[in-house]
Amino acid sequence: MTIYAWGYLQEYEREREDILDAVDKVFKSGQLVWGPHVTGFEREFAAYHGVPHCVAVDNGTNALVVALRALGIGPGDEVITVSNTAAPTVVAISMVGATPVFVDIHPDTYLMDVGQVAAAVTERTRCLLPVHLYGQCVEMAPLEELAARHDLVILEDCAQAHGARHHGRIAGSMGRAGAFSFYPTKVLGAYGHGGGTITSDAELDAEMRRLRYYGMDEERYYVVARNGMNSRLDEVHAEILRRKLGRLDDYIAARRTAAAVYAEALAGTDLVLPALAPGNDHVYYLYVVRHPQRDKIIERMRSFDISLNISYPWPVHTMTGFAHLGVPKGALPVTEALADEIFSLPMYPSVLGTDQEKVIDALRETLATL
Ligand SMILES: *Cc1c(COP(=O)(O)O)cnc(C)c1O
Repeated sequence: MTIYAWGYLQEYEREREDILDAVDKVFKSGQLVWGPHVTGFEREFAAYHGVPHCVAVDNGTNALVVALRALGIGPGDEVITVSNTAAPTVVAISMVGATPVFVDIHPDTYLMDVGQVAAAVTERTRCLLPVHLYGQCVEMAPLEELAARHDLVILEDCAQAHGARHHGRIAGSMGRAGAFSFYPTKVLGAYGHGGGTITSDAELDAEMRRLRYYGMDEERYYVVARNGMNSRLDEVHAEILRRKLGRLDDYIAARRTAAAVYAEALAGTDLVLPALAPGNDHVYYLYVVRHPQRDKIIERMRSFDISLNISYPWPVHTMTGFAHLGVPKGALPVTEALADEIFSLPMYPSVLGTDQEKVIDALRETLATL
């Protein structure tokens, strides 16, 4: 059987009864949209983060959109982020009409190089959007200082960092808001699309609630207070997520163990292994390694029936859909060099054991015969 970089099937095998029970319970409830399971999930997801508010939405991209819109960010505003990210980070900024501005990444962590942000701030900058990529947090103190100095808001993209911590603070609780994706493969995933935001700001919470519900106030149905969108989470995904939230810390622990196994087994090879930045508790959404002969390695691993992934093979600023931003090739040298050399090893809680042993053996053999 092929070993994939990720997937939900291994999990479904182990949790099938509970997932099907959640589906049955919701389907029997008579309420598929807008019910107690969404409300319950919002309460529990907020509590997990030690914040008062969570707004569940239909995917991670719209979590960013709802947050950006509620923060009043739109045409004419600049949002500083990175090009080494999932394209939806940048799609969301564009969807609200704002302009994404990229800084390069740190050569060790592949996360936003926070030392470059000050130089990217202009009088149009409104928002800093750090992406806690691969499962560890961007260094926040320099961003917080800049935000205070220039009156900017910080919105965290936490789509890959459920439960990650930075100097003890949990991802999503450090900025004005944090946006999450519950795409099936994420550290906390639904069985379909899902997303959510968290915040400690009651006004922002109310605005995000309105926006995801056509712009209506929840207690005044049918009256649009401001032009919104339809971006609600389904009851069935909410109930599945509630149950999985109770297991989130176990998933994270298993991912950390798997990362430690990889680190020990691959320490003597010429793969560059993931670097952990100071103060970070990594959740290893992805285990990203680097090698100049990346494409050859991926091809050879396929002969062992192991399918590896690249996150991400093309920096966002080099994509046709973002050509209008006018960021030339060569503008972000660390990001561009990285994209040619990185790949991800299979990483999911149940990779521990046989799957991981197969991957390590195949990888050792591949590296020895390059
Ligand atoms: C997955 C992801 C998103 C988008 O989430 P969707 O639920 O797929 O819309 C945004 N940002 C990052 C960094 C992601 O990994």
